[in-house]
Amino acid sequence: MVQLILLGTGTPMPDPTRCGSGTAVTRGGAWVLVDCGRGVTQRALQAGLDLPSLHAVLITHHHSDHVSDLATLAITRWVAGAPNPLTVVAANGPSARYATSCLDSFEDQAFHAQVGPSSPKRPAITVNTFRADSSPEVVWHDAGWLVSAALVDHHPIEAAVGYRIEADGRSVVVSGDTAVCDGIAGLAAGTDVLVHEALRSDLVPARSLEWNASAGSVGELAHELSLNDVILTHLLPAPHSVADEQAFVDEARASGYRGRLVIAHDLMVYGITRG
Ligand SMILES: [Zn+2]
Repeated sequence: MVQLILLGTGTPMPDPTRCGSGTAVTRGGAWVLVDCGRGVTQRALQAGLDLPSLHAVLITHHHSDHVSDLATLAITRWVAGAPNPLTVVAANGPSARYATSCLDSFEDQAFHAQVGPSSPKRPAITVNTFRADSSPEVVWHDAGWLVSAALVDHHPIEAAVGYRIEADGRSVVVSGDTAVCDGIAGLAAGTDVLVHEALRSDLVPARSLEWNASAGSVGELAHELSLNDVILTHLLPAPHSVADEQAFVDEARASGYRGRLVIAHDLMVYGITRG
């Protein structure tokens, strides 16, 4: 069974209940991770995920709340006995450069006495880069995973991409941070689940919705594409009551979208059924 585990549903805003962005897609014991923001490694352990069984980290864009835990993840996975480098998939640009270099500031002696019997002398990251396009293209595949990416609109951050992950006949699309755009529409058409960032348009500056999505715009896209399953994450401002969550729901449903709609929490587990 393919499952989603929402490891981090927050934003850069300090929040004790929501880590930075991180969405795990799991099948059996294997998993891939979209983004690796503040606290995501610890959330993965809390979720019971086996770190050496992580196949790849897919990075959407170079904002700290999406990448800042990457070195911690690579090191902790290595300490857990992973025999191979951590695979990172990223579009050409700053997030790929960061992934390539984020372990460099640790000299070998930083890992003295931490080496397990089956692991190499120090942790390592292998970065698979790709040139992102506005139309979805396959950017990585391995061991039954098929990952496509498309450029999204999170200007001035470039490249920013969304991902579609397919495995075992199921699909999930993770938007990263973006206004609703053609790239996301192309990825999300026909998907079983869309995980999209969402801001409340009544509580954030209008300008921020030029490069982020309002809950209402996500609802409109879901309605247009006749989707059945949408999860709102990267919530701003983060909801802290039932009423706050209902406000996100009401804004998303104003479009007429009547499919399933979920407000994400850290460590939420979600089975992916046929859309
Ligand atoms: Zn961002």
